[in-house]
Amino acid sequence: MKPPLLTLIGARLWSDPAFPRDATVPDPADVTIGAEGRVASITPTGTVPPSGGRVIDLEGRWLMPGLVDHHVHFTMWAKHRGRVGLAGARSADEVVDVVRGALVDHPVLSLADVEPLVGSGYQDALWPEPPTAAMLDEVAVHVGQYGRPIVLISHDMHSVWINTAAGERYGLPAGLLRENAAFEAQILLEAEEMADPRRIEVLVSDAALAAAARGVTGIMDLEMADNPLVWASRVTGGIKALRVVAGVYPHHLAESLARGERTGKRVPGTKGQVTVGPLKVFADGALNTRTAWCFDSYPGTSDFGHAAQARGDLERILADARDVGFDVALHAIGDRAVSEALDAFAASGAGGSVEHAQMVREADVARMAALGIAAGIHPEHMLDDREVMDVLWHGRTQRAFPYGDLARAGVQLRLGSDAPVSPLDPWLGISAAVHRTRDESPAWEPGNALDIGTALTSAWASPAVRPGVQGDLVVLDADPSELDAAALREMPVALTVLGGRVTHEAFDS
Ligand SMILES: [Zn+2]
Repeated sequence: MKPPLLTLIGARLWSDPAFPRDATVPDPADVTIGAEGRVASITPTGTVPPSGGRVIDLEGRWLMPGLVDHHVHFTMWAKHRGRVGLAGARSADEVVDVVRGALVDHPVLSLADVEPLVGSGYQDALWPEPPTAAMLDEVAVHVGQYGRPIVLISHDMHSVWINTAAGERYGLPAGLLRENAAFEAQILLEAEEMADPRRIEVLVSDAALAAAARGVTGIMDLEMADNPLVWASRVTGGIKALRVVAGVYPHHLAESLARGERTGKRVPGTKGQVTVGPLKVFADGALNTRTAWCFDSYPGTSDFGHAAQARGDLERILADARDVGFDVALHAIGDRAVSEALDAFAASGAGGSVEHAQMVREADVARMAALGIAAGIHPEHMLDDREVMDVLWHGRTQRAFPYGDLARAGVQLRLGSDAPVSPLDPWLGISAAVHRTRDESPAWEPGNALDIGTALTSAWASPAVRPGVQGDLVVLDADPSELDAAALREMPVALTVLGGRVTHEAFDS
């Protein structure tokens, strides 16, 4: 018999404090992951000596299934991570301070390829002094990065502030560019980013390791690309830190079908690391643009939002998906969109999920459960939009982000970040779902909070750590049921394991 890949000794298998502990699960336990990457045995610590392979002493740390981010746009996230956040800066000088820190943290990697430093998110309308090229030139020289291009994109993307080196690189005047000149700068920057695919792949590989460092073992990628193909090449190219469910968009469906793909099928050559995901379809728009499709009009208007499909088309698209073996991940944010989505699921017999489900009528909560349609939930969006919802969905917020109602009705919840909309870090979503606040402000609509066990389950790669499940596991330095909102967001992750192989290790013992 082949030796196991890994034995974790001294593990405490996390169990929900709301339920009596399963007396058959040893505590502490030694957990062995066999040669084929699955949990092979769980025995009381010290009773069975490790039989080869790697052995790690967890010293009583918490062990649970690895975490899955069920909704990401991974390439966008990988690119976004490298950008410096400038939101909230009250002056050009404050931006320069942030840029100074970022230049130090992200030095030029090699002389052959001087990377521009890119920042975004500032709003300069009320700044006391106008931003100048000289301010950025000076800070680059100051940290020894003379000649480093700096490109800072405003929150609304209608202005771009660049230094002299960036002006020379892109053939634009240095300083603050507005409107067409600003768009030109962004087009040139994007073209440069895309010109070297290796650069993107380096960012992707770094983002995969960063996800593993937060306990992530799997993602569902809904990047607008031919994801099964993209990820097959990434995995053969050496990216081993994540299991990927690769979503497919309607405009790539023909190619996907030509490859013989359908939802749940393993992508050849990836050793089970990549499987084909659902077809991604839109039913409406988004709340902030007032295009989420609702039963009630937006305040002071007769506008109910936007239906992304012509009437009747949704059902046909879902029926076609079902016929070719695809589940559907159906983007629906407003309560009308969710209701129409469920009509289409019911009429077509397709399976899958409603993604976002930010506003749901009571009857539709029950219907979603009865149809066996999962809800893709993104709790961080709730904390980003709570003030907006208090205005736009005034009087109905008890039905917004109704995670408690969905869970009580028996709807399967799948936690996601929708990165880059919020960071790819499940602990942010878990904390938001449980506490419905991220700081000192009171919980928003606390009646729909999830208990910690339900929140964790919505992200787990398997229902429990038990013999036979994939060896996709995470080890924590703290018990998540004992942390407040802020501490849960910062959950210290000691170890992440994918199929019995360590993808992240940070013991602070
Ligand atoms: Zn998305």
